[in-house]
Amino acid sequence: MRIVLLGAPGSGKGTQSQLLVRSYGVPQISTGDLLREAVSKATALGLEAKAAMDAGKLVDDATVLSMIRERLAKPDAVKGFILDGFPRNIAQAQALERLLLELGTPLDAVILLSLDLGVLFKRLTGRRICEGCGRVYNIYTTTPPGAPLHCDGCGETARFIQRPDDREDVIAKRLEVFEAQTKPLVQYYQDAGLLRVVDADADVDTVFRAIQRAVET
Ligand code: AMP
Repeated sequence: MRIVLLGAPGSGKGTQSQLLVRSYGVPQISTGDLLREAVSKATALGLEAKAAMDAGKLVDDATVLSMIRERLAKPDAVKGFILDGFPRNIAQAQALERLLLELGTPLDAVILLSLDLGVLFKRLTGRRICEGCGRVYNIYTTTPPGAPLHCDGCGETARFIQRPDDREDVIAKRLEVFEAQTKPLVQYYQDAGLLRVVDADADVDTVFRAIQRAVET
């Protein structure tokens, strides 16, 4: 299975990718996660990417593409992959197409997680992450009530943190970038005959079942 999960920040790409990983045994390749890892390790790439990320802008294509090329060359990606957060603009989509053509492994489908902007905004402002294991919660819907808070993922007394780019001013920028740069990919993949649209305004399991139907038909 080789798929792209397309959707605005907050549409559930990360959560759904993890469920797909468990069901289909292929790795999730998230450029956001790879970049955050580079930032936390303070690598040269991370230091360069940090300013764009903190401002809610896209990191430059060359950096992201070299990261993707390296990641797709790893042995676990031979059996397939779920691309989460990549491509983010037409140039990246074209570069991906060329790369997959070289590898002889074209995409099977592109799943668009479709969600209203108002809902996205609330999901992002409410998003909190367990510092211990990275499990994602939302203060409006899923954070376990009561204090101290225990994480269902690692069982520890969790310290829930907010991603620096989930602050309201940065979120507005990220959604603007999505509309301007990433949304044109919907038409791009529609024209390529690869697009499947899934309504992402439902609970996690319902959305997952809709994705499964979309990839298996
Ligand atoms: P995400 O976790 O996918 O929301 O990504 C967090 C941030 O990482 C984005 O706001 C961008 O600054 C950067 N980023 C992630 N993926 C890409 C990409 N494909 N191209 C450029 N920047 C990216």
